[in-house]
Amino acid sequence: MRSKGLTVLKIGGSVITMKDKALTPNNSAIKRLAKEIAGSRLSPLIIVHGGGGFGHPIAAKYGIAEGFKDEKQMVGFSKTHNAMMKLNMLIVEALLDEGLPAFSMAPSSFIITRSGRIQHIYRDPLEQALKLGFTPVLYGDAVFDYDLGFTVLSGDQILSRLATELNAERIIIGVDVDGLYTIDPKIDPRAQLITCLTLNELVNLIDKIGGSRSVDVTGGMMGKIRELMAPAMNGINILIVNALKPNYIYKALRGEDVVGTKIIRE
Ligand code: ADP
Repeated sequence: MRSKGLTVLKIGGSVITMKDKALTPNNSAIKRLAKEIAGSRLSPLIIVHGGGGFGHPIAAKYGIAEGFKDEKQMVGFSKTHNAMMKLNMLIVEALLDEGLPAFSMAPSSFIITRSGRIQHIYRDPLEQALKLGFTPVLYGDAVFDYDLGFTVLSGDQILSRLATELNAERIIIGVDVDGLYTIDPKIDPRAQLITCLTLNELVNLIDKIGGSRSVDVTGGMMGKIRELMAPAMNGINILIVNALKPNYIYKALRGEDVVGTKIIRE
């Protein structure tokens, strides 16, 4: 087992689920990624995954992100959490099948938010699990919120806060594109991959000041980029890679060269 600083790995919901089909896992991607993660023999490691077609449709149907307004949402809140637990179980089982001591941890049981932002993480069980050599597997979840009653907590926010609080050495984010582009590559074929971004460039990009290059980031990628500011400021190395391409996550975990976007403090 290779041991060094903590790595926090995020696997996007668009990688492990069929985003357009509700409650449909991408079984081949889950199996392959489990092999890559276990094969990297990396520890300490925390995995956070997104919801894709599992969490989002139910959360949207019941307006969970907007908070508690009506008793009718309550079943939807629990259904969102349950759908995420089902997806989480598939991922943890795939990792266990590869012999990796993965351990499922439900964010709603140890994280509470205030107006959608993490207020408190009760970290002791997670830290103890890491100390013993387990790989905790967390996910974007339906969580309780001091102001809103409940809300949706993204895997991206969990990743950023945990990595910062635990002084992680690096963050690896697996998505369904090669990294951060000048514009959404699914929309514009002229999009160019940005292989390296400094903290300053990241700040400019979020503030839409422009900076040396004009970059148009939207949707899920914008949410990720916003969350990455705190860890980047704390000197945590960040790498965004394509998790749908075989061996990219493996190479990233091993610290080998791989196509993607690096974000560095400088
Ligand atoms: P996940 O579900 O994997 O967490 P999202 O689908 O939420 O990821 O976000 C990633 C998506 O963001 C990409 O698939 C891409 O379509 C979109 N996107 C928007 N702008 C950009 C950009 N400038 N560079 C890369 N991807 C972008």
